[in-house]
Amino acid sequence: MSTQQAPAGTAPYVMGVDIGSTTSKCVILDSTGNILADVIITVGTGTSGPERALTEALDSAGLTREDISCLIATGYGRNTFPGADGQKSELSCHAKGAGKLFPEARTVIDIGGQDAKVLQLGPNGTLLNFTMNDKCAAGTGRFLDVMANVLEMGIQDLAPEGAKSTHPAHISSTCTVFAESEVISQLASGTPKADIIAGIHDSVAQRVAGLAKRTGITPQVVMTGGVAQNYGVVRSIEKLIEQPITTTPFAQSVGAYGAALYALEQVQNG
Ligand code: ADP
Repeated sequence: MSTQQAPAGTAPYVMGVDIGSTTSKCVILDSTGNILADVIITVGTGTSGPERALTEALDSAGLTREDISCLIATGYGRNTFPGADGQKSELSCHAKGAGKLFPEARTVIDIGGQDAKVLQLGPNGTLLNFTMNDKCAAGTGRFLDVMANVLEMGIQDLAPEGAKSTHPAHISSTCTVFAESEVISQLASGTPKADIIAGIHDSVAQRVAGLAKRTGITPQVVMTGGVAQNYGVVRSIEKLIEQPITTTPFAQSVGAYGAALYALEQVQNG
């Protein structure tokens, strides 16, 4: 989603900060809900990431902290963020953000750095039900980060490389540690990287599709969170759930956007 310099006369401004396990996201909105800033810092809870995201977002919008009428924090680290006017769960914020961007969304698949969630929505981003995997790195961004590291590749390069696969490898271990050994053996035995990557994408997709099937899949299906940028994973989940998935380049910031929408509501409701 494109951002723009804060135009005069659209105060009050509000902010949503999503402090995740892996990244910190900050979105600033003006009074009409226009996105003035959208910043992602690739370190999360317990680091300088949240403060840096806030500072960079203010700078990019040409605003100061005093210009922000309401700040809502969400994500794993929301309760320790100083100066927030309120906190909301990331489930509510992803539902809110996805529902605003895609009013027909009824299922949201959110894959972040350390968990995967499947949300069922009603109209207007109302959260009806959810299922979450936060006990195991399999089926999360962490699994992909570990594999990218073994393959000596950037996380953003997995999808284009995996798209070259002609015979996806089978990764049989769901455990990240065993799957890492399996990938190393595949590399040692000469399996093309593209086929290994396609197998890694299928492994993540199988975990998440299983979660989605348990929750219930109602169209329109939308994917949020950082892993939504990996179209190899997205395509693989689509095949398994037999439904098209809608994504946006803004996917990683949807939680922060939802938090900012809650902040706007809070200001508008006095
Ligand atoms: P959290 O909110 O838990 O911090 P995010 O929703 O920010 O997590 O997602 C982080 C994950 O997104 C990373 O672990 C990584 O696997 C994935 N990711 C981040 N950037 C990209 C990218 N450009 N392409 C593909 N995957 C990405």
